[in-house]
Amino acid sequence: GAEQTPTVPKHRVTTKGTNVPEHVDSFAALKERYQIPSHIISNLSHNGYMQPTGIQSYGIPVLLESRDLAAISPTGTGKTLSYLIPVLCALGSPTSSVRSDVGSGVRAVIIAPTRELAHQIHNECLKLSQGRKWRIVLFSKATASTLADKSVRDKVDIIISTPLRLVASLQGGKLDLNNVRHLVLDEADRMLDSEFFPQIEEILASCTHPNIQKAVFSATLPAGAEKVVMEMLHDPIRIVVGLKDT
Ligand code: ADP
Ligand code: MG
Repeated sequence: GAEQTPTVPKHRVTTKGTNVPEHVDSFAALKERYQIPSHIISNLSHNGYMQPTGIQSYGIPVLLESRDLAAISPTGTGKTLSYLIPVLCALGSPTSSVRSDVGSGVRAVIIAPTRELAHQIHNECLKLSQGRKWRIVLFSKATASTLADKSVRDKVDIIISTPLRLVASLQGGKLDLNNVRHLVLDEADRMLDSEFFPQIEEILASCTHPNIQKAVFSATLPAGAEKVVMEMLHDPIRIVVGLKDT
């Protein structure tokens, strides 16, 4: 393969868990090790993402190896791509093409505490998926009602939502999460220790597929929330990124 210049680590990274996958020093190394689709790599460079950040170097291999993950990394360190790259890789082809092996219906759900954050995640996801026809839905009252139609719903690949909006559709019987294989909770500290917790529990209970992968991302995780997270995950790997000189 191509020669790689090792990334100078900008962050102190600690990992915990069984058989932690080795981190990668570059997106090229990631492509080589996991055969991730070239269009994702080219979308990364087109958007100016030349080198993985600390959480991306350590977190992406964990998720690509189908492990559950608790990732704690400061604001601005690139947590969004840490889960979007593996989710898009795992989805392979859009549901709208024939995929008898994976069943129908939404396969990935990303939850964020505010509409603004969900909107930002949606934008990143669109950038990364350029050239592919995945149906990536930013959940709102309007999109929720279009999904009331099962034939529309069955073609959705990824839903990005706040907890309340998603639970409203679940309770209305307008959505099921039985085929979800990837569940991501972003900014988890703002959802686990708050009035959102009952909604998070309901979403977790609605994701009934036995092979679901769960990932939790946060800038901080107070001890109480960390305990809740570890109980929610299966054989998890925990990654903590600390900024140097702080
Ligand atoms: P966090 O969720 O950790 O706060 P974001 O995912 O919002 O961080 O990313 C913060 C900023 O860094 C965004 O503007 C994003 O586009 C940019 N970014 C993410 N990953 C990279 C990368 N590998 N190289 C350069 N910029 C990146
Ligand atoms: Mg973020």
